[in-house]
Amino acid sequence: MAESREYDLIVVGAGMAGIILAARIAEMGINPRTGDRLRIALVEAGPHWKREVGGHSDPDWRRMVPQIVWEEFRNVPRWPWPYGLKMVGGCSPHWGANAFPPYDVDYKNWVDEMEIDWTQNNMKSAVDDVMKTLHVHEDPEQAFSVGDHMFRDAGYALGYHPRGYMTARKNCIYCGFIGSGHGCKYDAKGSSLWYLPTFLKHGGELIADAEVQQVNIEKQGAGGVVKGITYLKEGRTVQARADRVAVCCGTWGSPVLLAKSGYGPRSELGSTTVVENKNVGQNLDGDTRYRIPVIFDQPIKEAGRGTTGGIYWYDDDPQFSDGTGRVRFADKDMSKITYPHVAAMSEFAPGYGKAHMDFMKGAITRLGAIDIGVSKPPTHVKGWVDLHSGAHNYPGDDYIDRRMMQVREIAFEIAKRMGCEISERFPSTFKGRGGGHGNGTCRAGSDPRNSVIDQDFEAHEVQGLFVADCSSYPRAVSSNCGVVGAIMGAFAARRIVRNYFSRGV
Ligand SMILES: Cc1cc2nc3c(=O)[nH]c(=O)nc-3n(C[C@H](O)[C@H](O)[C@H](O)COP(=O)(O)OP(=O)(O)OC[C@H]3O[C@@H](n4cnc5c(N)ncnc54)[C@H](O)[C@@H]3O)c2cc1C
Repeated sequence: MAESREYDLIVVGAGMAGIILAARIAEMGINPRTGDRLRIALVEAGPHWKREVGGHSDPDWRRMVPQIVWEEFRNVPRWPWPYGLKMVGGCSPHWGANAFPPYDVDYKNWVDEMEIDWTQNNMKSAVDDVMKTLHVHEDPEQAFSVGDHMFRDAGYALGYHPRGYMTARKNCIYCGFIGSGHGCKYDAKGSSLWYLPTFLKHGGELIADAEVQQVNIEKQGAGGVVKGITYLKEGRTVQARADRVAVCCGTWGSPVLLAKSGYGPRSELGSTTVVENKNVGQNLDGDTRYRIPVIFDQPIKEAGRGTTGGIYWYDDDPQFSDGTGRVRFADKDMSKITYPHVAAMSEFAPGYGKAHMDFMKGAITRLGAIDIGVSKPPTHVKGWVDLHSGAHNYPGDDYIDRRMMQVREIAFEIAKRMGCEISERFPSTFKGRGGGHGNGTCRAGSDPRNSVIDQDFEAHEVQGLFVADCSSYPRAVSSNCGVVGAIMGAFAARRIVRNYFSRGV
């Protein structure tokens, strides 16, 4: 027999956005009738590796990150989709902590294209919350390597405005080793876990290792109304009742869960459709990136010091005024030592034997890459998520191919100015490769015909159902998406509290 529980709000997915949303609603919201503290459950499919926030990690946490190489992922459960880490914290304990808030043009795209009120001014309090709590700042000058400086000088010489990466860290020693894909053993890397104590302190209940099977939606007229969720915990099926459910399962996970719940395109869901919305899983937007390897004659970086980002700048396509075609240039691996196993497999490495041994003596300090990527594809280029498997599909198009070829020439110019050798290899097409840092698969908009949620994060057709994570924002931003996902959580919390969990509503 199924167990049953009851809440005011259930948040599904304790990832980047989910924890922040749950924490801020627990802190700011009240039951509008009684004034009591809200009963909130935060339900996460993956485990909770407990640790002291801001302290030195405990043994469990260290077990999860036993090696400072990608093999650590062997210990982390995964979803079949991109960025699919399954744990309390979601992708945020492993992200690179390269932390970029939206730019003016990003807000403008959202407002103009989808007619929503997501202006910079309206989102300010949520943005400030995330920037402050995750301690977002520019990498310190002292952490930059010789390679970073060379890249920056080349950017200036070509007329750009190079800047140091923004990062989310506290008490970081900038050893340069803990970049993307690694959990920092000393908890310097900002993650949504930093919000978890706030959630627990305000009475929130964290339910880990509990995969949600569906949001329970009851048909009502042409639409539906939320009744709670069904999840699996230790082999048992649990029903949890709530009039409000916020889905925060990420760009790939959220549409999959909505589809399992019977909310999505009838053409895909068939007879399991409870309420139709054609846009669930559609409109996948995101960047198309490529790293061009380079190698220097001399060391450009040293052990024990380095940023995880480096230097970047944007190149806009002059034929568009809305940011379409925006490309980000970034120096990659010019700051931190290249791991030996990566250096050994570099395309610059000679075949085995003495030449390879000689190469390996200095390669870890001489290798780097120039990262180029169309961060804002044209609006007509969108991908989709397979609603059954969560598989990523992104078509790309001729414009993206042309733009990547164009900026490759600029990368060659940068390499020339830095005096390094640059790889000649380059894909002949980027079709099918883009949509990275994906967003938009449950996008916000004023028109239900082209969007899933409204500007207050509530589903157009299902009362009490919210989606708040990277799937919510409608157009790709200028840079990486993690902080934008965090902002979605903080912003949605404010809207949901205002509309449902404050006095007088
Ligand atoms: C290795 C790596 C490096 C990255 N580096 C950067 C970076 O430097 N900068 C940057 O901006 N971004 C980076 N990102 C991306 C960034 O981490 C993500 O964009 C961000 O975490 C997405 O937030 P989210 O809340 O949308 O989803 P997630 O953080 O993925 O959270 C979704 C959560 O929902 C849970 N969930 C899913 N389905 C269910 C279900 N049915 N039941 C219960 N729980 C469920 C998942 O387990 C997960 O915990 C990186 C990602 C990875 C993996």
